[in-house]
Amino acid sequence: MIIDGKKTAEILRSEIKKEINFIKEQTNKVPNLSVILIGNYAPSEIYVKNKIKKSKEVGINSNIIRYPENISEEEILKKIKELNEDNDVSGILVQLPLPKQISKEKIINLIYPSKDVDGFHPINVGNLASGNNAIVPCTPLGCSILIKKIEKDLSGKHAVIVGRSNLNGKPMAQLLLKENCTVTIVHSKTKNIKDECLKADILVVAIGAPHFIQKDWVKNGAIVIDVGINKVGDKLVGDVKFDEVKEKVKAIPPVPGGVGPMTIACLLKNTLNCFKARLT
Ligand code: NAP
Repeated sequence: MIIDGKKTAEILRSEIKKEINFIKEQTNKVPNLSVILIGNYAPSEIYVKNKIKKSKEVGINSNIIRYPENISEEEILKKIKELNEDNDVSGILVQLPLPKQISKEKIINLIYPSKDVDGFHPINVGNLASGNNAIVPCTPLGCSILIKKIEKDLSGKHAVIVGRSNLNGKPMAQLLLKENCTVTIVHSKTKNIKDECLKADILVVAIGAPHFIQKDWVKNGAIVIDVGINKVGDKLVGDVKFDEVKEKVKAIPPVPGGVGPMTIACLLKNTLNCFKARLT
């Protein structure tokens, strides 16, 4: 089965839109997402444009706060403090990567955890690790929704995650642990990655290496989630050799059109949740 990430994201966005409309009718308030974009890095421009467009479509009042590449760290910290205190702002997103004079840690740590729509703040990371309510990073949240669409009860499944980044691999592992999976994380220093992958009922791959996972690395009937986005020539491809792997697995999303659309839909979901938490 090919998992249609575009369609799943569309359904999620329409649910979000419905809920925003409902709350607006009751309170006359809508969520606000403030996005800070520094410099002119082309991929960031595209990501942010897309995030703003999709936010507006569901009724989130979103805006971009732009700064030149040479802006000081102090200016950005000042802006974040202002947005933290602004009651009309539900969520704050600082688009990464940042210019080298600005510390990513300082920025992430300053955003109020309750407005941290990316789920990067240590409080949210800690809450997720403790199994408490947390704002979960958008990409692994999107992956877990796709997996649960295929299999509702993941209890006892062996999940293998390739990649251990804070953005993808680690939060993915926490989410699958919460679902009672037995979780293995592999990374660039792991020996015999293929042997580990072959044990996976659920294989999530987030490394950024085109077509790294091949057919003979995957167990028959596994669910495979490909997070990777790699530019090869003028094409975008995943970390998994989709054409050959799809023949033997239970389900796999394509790249593009799989995890990517879910990431943005989950950003909207996180923004709505931050907004709702401030209403009560
Ligand atoms: P990252 O921060 O660079 O982390 C990559 C991880 O993969 C690291 O843990 C690294 O191991 C591991 N790794 C790299 N090469 C490996 C290899 N040959 N064998 C085993 N492990 C290897 O990357 P990321 O931010 O997690 O992103 C990963 C991919 O997902 C990229 O292609 C990115 O574009 C894509 N992505 C997609 C979305 C989406 O919405 N679809 C969102 C975010 C990212 P070490 O820790 O040992 O170095």
